[in-house]
Amino acid sequence: MKLECGHEPAETRGVGTGHAVKQDGSRVCYQCCRDEDLSQMNRGEPITLYLNASGLRGAPMERRNKWPTASLFTVKNWPGTLTIAPTAVRYHEGWGFGRPYPVYHVWFIGPDDHVWWGRNAGDNEVLHCRRTRERVTHA
Ligand SMILES: [Zn+2]
Repeated sequence: MKLECGHEPAETRGVGTGHAVKQDGSRVCYQCCRDEDLSQMNRGEPITLYLNASGLRGAPMERRNKWPTASLFTVKNWPGTLTIAPTAVRYHEGWGFGRPYPVYHVWFIGPDDHVWWGRNAGDNEVLHCRRTRERVTHA
């Protein structure tokens, strides 16, 4: 089976489909998904990435820190073929539907050397990211 990107789907170990589905419904392999995510960011377009906070499990004291240790978090794309280490993470509590929910703000350097900012709310990993005007300079 060939995908719309022209490649075969990835080998899966019993989980996952081996491909990602784009907004237009076409299927791309995980590597093309990474390439497309990077191009989207290089064009400065907002992108939905995922915030992995599993590092917090080993550091329960960090859970309610206003500025938890950034290295406990990873920003990734859906298949995990793109991973970025955040430079800063801020936590606060949101309130909705009669109960509190966690909100994380995440800053990281994009492939375009801009600082990006993402927001994750609730018990999910969805991270809505957009480029900031700030750029990093290489010494
Ligand atoms: Zn492909």
